[in-house]
Amino acid sequence: MYDAAVSENRRRAERLSSSARILWKRQGDDFLQLDRVRDVSAQGAFVVSDAVSEPDAALEFELHDEAGRALASGVAKVVRLGDGGMGIAFLDVTIDAAEVSQSMPPPRPPPPLPAAAPPLPTAPAATSDEWVAPQLEPLSVPPLDRVIIGIDLGTTNTCAAWVDERVGEGRPQIIPGRTGGNTIPTMINFDTDGRIHVGQRAADRQILYPRRTVYGSKRLIGRTWQPELAAEAQGHFAYPLGEAEGQRFGIDLGDQVVSMDAVAARVLREVRATAEDFLQREVRSAVITVPAYFSEVQREAVRRAAFMAELTVHRIVNEPTAAAVAYGHARGEEARVAVWDFGGGTFDFSVVDIRDERYEVVATGGDNFVGGADFDDELASMILERFLEAEGLEELEPTPQQIARLREAAELTKRALSVQSEFDVRLTDFAREPKRDLSVTITREDFEARTAPLVERTLTIARGVLLSASILPEEIDDVVLVGGTTRIPAVQRAVAELFGRRPSKRINPDEAVAHGAALLGHEISAGEGPVLLDLLPMTVGHAIDARRFVPVVKRNERLPCVEVLTFGGDLLGRIQVPLFQGESPDAAQNEYLCTVVVEDARLRDGERAQIRLSFDEHCLMAIDAFVERSGKPLEVTLDRERPLEDILQDLGAFDGPPAPEAWQLPETRISKVLGKLFGFFRKK
Ligand code: AMP
Repeated sequence: MYDAAVSENRRRAERLSSSARILWKRQGDDFLQLDRVRDVSAQGAFVVSDAVSEPDAALEFELHDEAGRALASGVAKVVRLGDGGMGIAFLDVTIDAAEVSQSMPPPRPPPPLPAAAPPLPTAPAATSDEWVAPQLEPLSVPPLDRVIIGIDLGTTNTCAAWVDERVGEGRPQIIPGRTGGNTIPTMINFDTDGRIHVGQRAADRQILYPRRTVYGSKRLIGRTWQPELAAEAQGHFAYPLGEAEGQRFGIDLGDQVVSMDAVAARVLREVRATAEDFLQREVRSAVITVPAYFSEVQREAVRRAAFMAELTVHRIVNEPTAAAVAYGHARGEEARVAVWDFGGGTFDFSVVDIRDERYEVVATGGDNFVGGADFDDELASMILERFLEAEGLEELEPTPQQIARLREAAELTKRALSVQSEFDVRLTDFAREPKRDLSVTITREDFEARTAPLVERTLTIARGVLLSASILPEEIDDVVLVGGTTRIPAVQRAVAELFGRRPSKRINPDEAVAHGAALLGHEISAGEGPVLLDLLPMTVGHAIDARRFVPVVKRNERLPCVEVLTFGGDLLGRIQVPLFQGESPDAAQNEYLCTVVVEDARLRDGERAQIRLSFDEHCLMAIDAFVERSGKPLEVTLDRERPLEDILQDLGAFDGPPAPEAWQLPETRISKVLGKLFGFFRKK
């Protein structure tokens, strides 16, 4: 099948017209080049370019037709140089890699399992990617022989792992992506033919199709759509945000808005398919990690996304807690560890006491709006400023393509500056009119000065978490770094200074969370498992009016937990309670969860109605209501549909929603431009 696909691909390659374009880079190089190609055959092509490479140089390329559809990708080498370009010979061509990748054999599968697994009870099949509110099964205890993989659904990358007792003494193994790496980019590209590209392929297409490529979806998943918040957030996304069904954030593709929940579902489906290919068996069960600082609605959205991907979730576990499990498994001693989890889009900080198989989170906190992407934004702005300075230009409003190139260059520069003291950024043909290359040098010193406020933001959070739990930094036995952003030397220095010790090198920051999730999955499937004692990350309460928030369950409450709200006689008939989550005394500044509605609360004299909020160990909320003394149940519904603006208006004392503090991102030149480009820029 693979061969057939390739020969079909070759046939299509031969049909490429002379107006086809090529997106290419020299292997090992870090910038992309977009040029025209001519004389395309199944063997090779001529690339019209002034950025030629020396003969025999290997290239990675992607071919597109004039409508911008990706037709082929692969590896080629330079065979000759010519006037205004170079000839390339295809070494390995795959056309329409999305189709081909489905039939590609998985890399290095593990040995087959001794006994065929019985058919797995699956999550009910989801029929579409659209947001629906399915009736979810309760999180269940699985049969003993089920494979439960661990999935770290990251802002930037997603990583899956599993435990095979026959390999590596029960240590977790990473499930490689289709292209062999340990992670897949958490990205989706929607092409104009209705096809969806996931992972690396979506990442490869981002430069050409920034408006149709979703990244950073985890920052928006589950959040309730509000135009003001969207305006705030738009500055950080190169694709247009829109309101998806169910008041969700989504990507606006013109003819439809696809929710971030559906985007996460596609990524999870790809992870599941990759795992099935790799493990050579059906995979229907997972432990999925989320940032500790995720709200209830965000957790619920991840669970719904898993459901759409036909995965049954056996545990939703906080990322730092999963990392602590990986650490504890590797070390096996008693310790109080601080987990510094700084990824692509979020920062979490937790203190975990580990004893035997018991993991007790004693303090936790975080910020869902600071991560590696913010370092990229700062660097992208800085690179642009340097370019303008060097060219003597006042202003340049970059196109989405230029922004995508700047962002990619910024990310590479950031990574390079983790190991070297300066980096030359080169973007050929960056400006077209007048035609200019971009060539600037960024030093680590410049980078650190520019991004110091981001590091400081994480230090402030961590100090607050320690203070709230009355823990002194010297009481921490070990510090564990998790997430790619902890590779930044300034981050490592800041952590070392705060704790007066060098962070542990015992676990791999990129894989620890997936490893921990896989260990948990394995232990759940074996009918046992470590004891995880987690905390409620954010206060849950209700609004009296839009400006007043009354906490009901306070943050750092040990999970599972239950609290009850009581309502006296005169109110009754219909009870309506909007619930929010967050720490602001101002309800509108917190995250809206839902409105609890008790339709018919007619009570006898002196009776009172009670609404019970229960949080399970996954931090998912269940609500019921009853008459106080008799315990007679009252019918309760959760309204998540009504527009939040209407709810706030009804609550009174409302003059338009201010952006919650958490959404106030550092504004960079790039974020300003993006905001403007999509017409959402808010005048301050
Ligand atoms: P994660 O969410 O853990 O996959 O982290 C991804 C983030 O880590 C992205 O923003 C990456 O750019 C960043 N990252 C990965 N490697 C490095 C590195 N060597 N130096 C700095 N940042 C990195």
